[in-house]
Amino acid sequence: MREEVVCGFSRSRCRKARIIKPASWGEAVRAVREADVILPAGNHYSYGDSSLNRILLDMRGLKRILHWDDEQDLLTVEAGMTLAELLPWLLNRGRFYLITPGTKGITLGGAVASNVHGKDHHVHGSFIHSVEALTILHADGSIRTYTKRDRAFTHFFASYGLLGIILTVTLRVKRIPGTRILAEHVKTRNLRETLRILYRMEASLPYTVAWIDTSARGTALGRGIVMGGRFIPGRLPLKRVKRVPFSLPGWVMASERFMRFANRAYYALQPAGRRVESVDSFFYPLDALRDWNRVYGRGFVQYQFSVPRAHAEAAVSRVIKTMQEYHLLSFVSVLKTTGRERLRGVFDFTQPGVSFAVDIPLTNRTGRLVEELDRIILKHAGRVYLTKDSLLTPEVFKRMYSRETARFKRLKKTYDPTHKLVSDQALRLGLIRGERV
Ligand SMILES: Cc1cc2nc3c(=O)[nH]c(=O)nc-3n(C[C@H](O)[C@H](O)[C@H](O)COP(=O)(O)OP(=O)(O)OC[C@H]3O[C@@H](n4cnc5c(N)ncnc54)[C@H](O)[C@@H]3O)c2cc1C
Repeated sequence: MREEVVCGFSRSRCRKARIIKPASWGEAVRAVREADVILPAGNHYSYGDSSLNRILLDMRGLKRILHWDDEQDLLTVEAGMTLAELLPWLLNRGRFYLITPGTKGITLGGAVASNVHGKDHHVHGSFIHSVEALTILHADGSIRTYTKRDRAFTHFFASYGLLGIILTVTLRVKRIPGTRILAEHVKTRNLRETLRILYRMEASLPYTVAWIDTSARGTALGRGIVMGGRFIPGRLPLKRVKRVPFSLPGWVMASERFMRFANRAYYALQPAGRRVESVDSFFYPLDALRDWNRVYGRGFVQYQFSVPRAHAEAAVSRVIKTMQEYHLLSFVSVLKTTGRERLRGVFDFTQPGVSFAVDIPLTNRTGRLVEELDRIILKHAGRVYLTKDSLLTPEVFKRMYSRETARFKRLKKTYDPTHKLVSDQALRLGLIRGERV
């Protein structure tokens, strides 16, 4: 067991933790049986404190491929495997993830625990819809496999490691004609047009997303670039990741002038029209620079929420205006559509409508800005995505997730009555009684 400082991806929440890295299921079982508190962790790509605890079970050593059914497109893998590690294996077999988030840095366990989503939420929904079975290590040290047919199957999605430790994931993957994507980029003049084109593309393309220029005001507010795409035959190789060799002083990314320049330049320089892209540039553009989160110096918070479609324009425009009033702009600002779902995880944040994510630099104004954004989102029947959250208060959380919290507490009694599985976020939000140690 080693002790080190660990942070969420945005580096807004860090803590000292003792880390146990099991090399076998037996070691994982022993660690769980012996611990009074513990939390499974993946690659700490969640932004805040959902992967933080004083004792962490680092699952990244458990990453064997256990079974592959070439006819059924089903793959059983240990949960510590990252999407990046598995990707070349899949592409070589003409397959790709049915559902992938905008980074391949995450583990499969993390993908289940946050029930992640991607650019195809309007078609396939969240990650749960690509999973056929899970093997769970329970808080009492027992191990059980749950298939889609079991009622308990959904309990381990979007429950953030608090109801059980995922040991294996059986994934359904999709066949692709090649590793190239035919992408369409449309520049829009304002938010209404951005939404209209996003909804239109959604009807014909499996992958859609929009980048928003958060510096644009007045009649241009909410302008951006809407992107859609689909796989086409032909091959393009995966890219090498470059490292960002520096941290910037906090004031650079917090500077309104710099962010205005960056937003305007990106909007102006991105060419519109059709082009062929690789898997990396289309699905994982943020992974091109490893450790890019360090450019924020002091750190940042990511704020991501979903609202029903009827509230989309009002909520998103109010959020952008409020950020402008606080002179805090975002560069990575992503608008996606979210569809109806058959299966739901415990703390899923999506609903039929849109989701919007912005990166906000950490300054002495950030806390007040986020409080204001929370008020806007509540007014528009919205919810914050817990895997991105660093600053929610127990009161706001309760209003966003009241039914889910009541259900979670019942499930916690069943799966973990002694509250062994605990995260800093669960303590901060009042989901579990106790104090962060
Ligand atoms: C650049 C970037 C882009 C992103 N884009 C998207 C996106 O498009 N869509 C989206 O939905 N998310 C996105 N995310 C968020 C990311 O997908 C989630 O935070 C994911 O859960 C991180 O996985 P991880 O393996 O790093 O897990 P961690 O961050 O280490 O842990 C996240 C949660 O999972 C739990 N957990 C981890 N492993 C296990 C396990 N084996 N068993 C039980 N619980 C476990 C932890 O306890 C914690 O609660 C993005 C993140 C980054 C940094």
